[in-house]
Amino acid sequence: MVSKIVREAENQYKQALAWRGKENPDYGVIINRDTCIARLGCRNCIEFCPGDLIYYENGRPDVKFLDECWYCGICAQVCGPRAIAYIFPDEILKAGEKKASPK
Ligand code: SF4
Ligand code: SF4
Repeated sequence: MVSKIVREAENQYKQALAWRGKENPDYGVIINRDTCIARLGCRNCIEFCPGDLIYYENGRPDVKFLDECWYCGICAQVCGPRAIAYIFPDEILKAGEKKASPK
């Protein structure tokens, strides 16, 4: 079970790296514009983001307030075509490392 979760996390991270730069920032919530089906009316990520951080503008969803994102992953979970992946910012990774290191 754990290895499946780790494998999925690795895959989504690789995806996010591949999508980076395609109108996307270097870190954060990365949306694949090629596979997003917002043009067909999907607004799942916008409706389900608990922080109300994603907005539909210029024909596509965009994370407007990335600094307020807490990387809960809900937007990626509710995205049917799996067009969302994320790259955790350094401060979150470092906080995770601190917690994981033995005392
Ligand atoms: S990871 Fe969570 S808080 Fe961040 S944009 Fe997605 S749903 Fe919103
Ligand atoms: S949930 Fe996925 S497909 Fe739907 S608008 Fe958001 S990114 Fe696009």
